[in-house]
Amino acid sequence: MTTVAAYAAPAAQARLERTTIERREVGEFDVLIDIKFAGICHTDIHQVREGWGEAVFPMVPGHEIAGVVCEVGPGVTRFAVGDRVGVGCLVDSCRECENCKAGLEQHCAQGMVGTYNALGKDGEPTYGGYSEKIVVDEKYTLRIPDGLSLDVAAPLLCAGVTVYSPLKRWNAGPGKKVAILGMGGLGHMGVKVAYRLGAEVTVLSQSLRKQEDGLKLGADHYYATSDQETFEKLGGAFDLILSTVSAPLDLDTYLSLLKTGGVFVNVGVPEEPVGLNLFSVVGGRKALAGSFIGGIQETQEMLDFCAEHGCGAEIELISASEINDAYERVLASDVRYRFVIDAATI
Ligand code: NAP
Ligand code: ZN
Ligand code: ZN
Repeated sequence: MTTVAAYAAPAAQARLERTTIERREVGEFDVLIDIKFAGICHTDIHQVREGWGEAVFPMVPGHEIAGVVCEVGPGVTRFAVGDRVGVGCLVDSCRECENCKAGLEQHCAQGMVGTYNALGKDGEPTYGGYSEKIVVDEKYTLRIPDGLSLDVAAPLLCAGVTVYSPLKRWNAGPGKKVAILGMGGLGHMGVKVAYRLGAEVTVLSQSLRKQEDGLKLGADHYYATSDQETFEKLGGAFDLILSTVSAPLDLDTYLSLLKTGGVFVNVGVPEEPVGLNLFSVVGGRKALAGSFIGGIQETQEMLDFCAEHGCGAEIELISASEINDAYERVLASDVRYRFVIDAATI
């Protein structure tokens, strides 16, 4: 076991504080990663606050991890000391079920092993990226291409793949009108990726405060959802809407913005259920879908795509002592556009 420094929430709702945790010995197929940067995802906040139900404490959040390999187990073939690597939301899965075999490890029939707030196959709690080092099986470790610096690459490990996967699956591309709902961590990556896939991109944000940024990141249009005229103007406008909103929203109203046969994909996970009038999908033969991160191979594909297209995240780099303040700012939709912790300050 190796003792490493980390930031943890000792109990639900508690502030995060500096502590130490134990990392397992580097096993045959493991890599030891010296963490350089860790992004703050809104999911970290939902889980620390037990907004999605009972959680494992103490909790070291963080599933947007970028770092450098500093030791490898004897059976490791894909990585060497010095390689630039990333770890996302999952660190293990059964490897045998239909979904694991199809590269959908996030939907493993036995349940994926989360990077934190989970129990590993050894029965021990997993601890995430707000820490100095992590031990991960090489199969669940991603390669960060040279074209991406590690700080702006970290948020791709969750935010990046969470938007890339549905945009690809539902054919965002030339000739397609795509709306990104919410311009936070996921949303701003949604704009950047949809633009690079060739779609006509519209941002639907609560206000016009971030309009200039949205247009710079690749959006063609930007509207405020606080303005009723937005909905009158955009009725039936979109082939695809990707919702990244972390709070409950009026699905019926947003479904009315789809063309006939359009798809509303939800990736935001509010803490309360939302209502739906089924007429909203029956009329216009619309589809309401969900999407959850991405599998390992798809995450690598996304990293390669982002490197090729110069598509890192827009970040605010913070020191670890600022994590609690950053959480408050995320909750107030006041982040431009992902907080990333400099792990050297842990
Ligand atoms: P974030 O940075 O806080 O962005 C969420 C955005 O939603 C905000 O910037 C804001 O955009 C909008 N929003 C917030 N409250 C709102 C409200 N009351 N009404 C309307 N819009 C509101 O969060 P994130 O890290 O991108 O995560 C977003 C959600 O996705 C979270 O629920 C997170 O848990 C979930 N998530 C899901 C997956 C998955 O695999 N499905 C992966 C990662 C995260 P504007 O300021 O532009 O209005
Ligand atoms: Zn996340
Ligand atoms: Zn499986």
